[in-house]
Amino acid sequence: MNNKLIDLSSDTVTQPSDEMRAYMCKASVGDLQKGEDPTVNELEETVADLLGKEAAVYLPSGTMCNQIAFKVHTNPGDEIIMHQESHPAHLEGGAISALCNLSVYLVPGVRGIFNSSAVTEALRPNDVLYPRSRLVFIENTHNLCGGTIWPLENIKAVVAEASKLGLACHMDGSRLLNACIAADLTPKEYCMPFDSCMIAFSKGLGAPVGSALAGSKAFIEDALHWRRAFGGAMRQAGIVAAGALYALRNNVQRLKDDHDNAKRLANGLCGMTKIDIDMDSIQTNIVVFNIAKSGMQPSQFNQELIKRGVRMSSYRGNVMRAVTHLDVTTSDIDTAINAVHDILAE
Ligand SMILES: *Cc1c(COP(=O)(O)O)cnc(C)c1O
Repeated sequence: MNNKLIDLSSDTVTQPSDEMRAYMCKASVGDLQKGEDPTVNELEETVADLLGKEAAVYLPSGTMCNQIAFKVHTNPGDEIIMHQESHPAHLEGGAISALCNLSVYLVPGVRGIFNSSAVTEALRPNDVLYPRSRLVFIENTHNLCGGTIWPLENIKAVVAEASKLGLACHMDGSRLLNACIAADLTPKEYCMPFDSCMIAFSKGLGAPVGSALAGSKAFIEDALHWRRAFGGAMRQAGIVAAGALYALRNNVQRLKDDHDNAKRLANGLCGMTKIDIDMDSIQTNIVVFNIAKSGMQPSQFNQELIKRGVRMSSYRGNVMRAVTHLDVTTSDIDTAINAVHDILAE
């Protein structure tokens, strides 16, 4: 009936809607680096207000938000404490070492969440032998651990411990609005404890380009310097920033649909004997499951899915990952479940 690929490989694959495109077409623009792009200015003010920070800066990617935050918070040779499955440790092209000259202390934690004691244990002694511990990094929702949500109490405990030890704290909120919708908390409540935080517009929010980094005025002034140095300072970026504004105004509440679709997919998969899935990890729009018992490699599994009009992704081992988003309907989810049924002959 339809030839559309049901693309669950990521929530980055969304197409801007006709309405979003129309809104982008009409955007007023100017030279961003002179502070003269009205649409970017409006977006940055909107984000600062949304996250409860003094200022924000629009950047081309989430990776650049994280790396610029690291650059501002640290000096070369310093160390960042983060969960062992963190995005910057695995999926940011080695920028932590290549661009920021930092070392990383990876801590364990169930489904991407760690406790304040992990921070205490990771802190380096004040001795020339060691790197200087400088920053704690938290990912909310946690991507590789399956879109899991940091409980606010847990965040407060970790940040309190970090502050006590003299460490700054940064939150990667690429999917923070997913966490907010699922946990019924405001972005402000989640961002309050942090020195800096970022959100992405090009994930579940469905905009084509960009993320924003927020913090104090002084922090953002420094960030503007590094935006230029990292080559991320654009000019008439209002064209794309308009897509982000449109997304913030129209695509936040509907994230609940993505979460419902992820649960529906997980429920469909969890009954299959050749699939292992941790149902407690199904909290937002990401479904991670293990296909080891099928005897198939993820690449082969995905080839079979594609033959049936569905695509997922995998990062390592026998783990598959499916992400729901605004271009996926509930009936698409049922098609995906049937495709998996068919492949595994369940
Ligand atoms: C996608 C993602 C990023 C990076 O965003 P890009 O825009 O792809 O650079 C950072 N952190 C997390 C948790 C992500 O999911």
